[in-house]
Amino acid sequence: MARAKVYIIGAGPGDPELISVKGLSKLKEADVVLYDFLASGELLRFAKKRARIICVGKADGLHLLEQAKINALLYKYAKQGKTIARLKGGDPLVFSRGIEEIIYLKKRKINFEVIQGITSAFAAPESFGIPLTLRGKYSSIAVLTGRKSNKEALDAPKCDTLVYLMAVANIKNVVKAILKSRKSKNMPCAFIERGTTSEERLVTGNLGNIVRRAQEYKITAPAVFIVGNVVKYANSDK
Ligand code: SAH
Repeated sequence: MARAKVYIIGAGPGDPELISVKGLSKLKEADVVLYDFLASGELLRFAKKRARIICVGKADGLHLLEQAKINALLYKYAKQGKTIARLKGGDPLVFSRGIEEIIYLKKRKINFEVIQGITSAFAAPESFGIPLTLRGKYSSIAVLTGRKSNKEALDAPKCDTLVYLMAVANIKNVVKAILKSRKSKNMPCAFIERGTTSEERLVTGNLGNIVRRAQEYKITAPAVFIVGNVVKYANSDK
């Protein structure tokens, strides 16, 4: 298996131009491309004409292929000495099961390389001009998940800026957890849906009204939920 190599590539948050130069060049070299739903579909046209392209995607709650099957596919093509591009949404190791694939590959002594991507946690807010920090004022950020097996056991650390991924379905409990951690109902917050794509939407509010506003605007996944005074800088007329 000396020749085989798996590139675990961050496809970026949505806009296909946000993949890295290195990620794109490895995608172009690959014999096999395994991609997730969140990876921008437009990127696939850069694959070689004869590349085998397989969707193993996981949208929120929908697992097309179980992780074990994805691992088995990686192994199958690695055994054939192929160059494999494993395209994952955003950054490949932020709230993903990329590390499970890495552990699997390591055990089988298959070469791999991680190619970082731009995470939606930062890119989606920034797409509407929302900074994550502000010099002299807001200096800490936490990136969290809004989905836990125990729906109410959510983290809300005392940081200036909180960014939740996978929070749409469980937003009531997310807000409850944040209010418990002493942020006030007036604290600005926002949903950014499909950030950096042509369909992106921003819905702003505060902790007191965001659950209602998310329903009103029918926010659906994928969306980032950001909480903090930095949201005041949102560019709503984009
Ligand atoms: N590794 C990815 C995150 C995977 S978890 C990354 O670094 O971005 C999936 C979650 O990411 C979604 O539920 C959503 O919260 C967020 N997400 C992914 N793409 C997004 C986008 N374009 N806009 C807003 N949120 C997005």
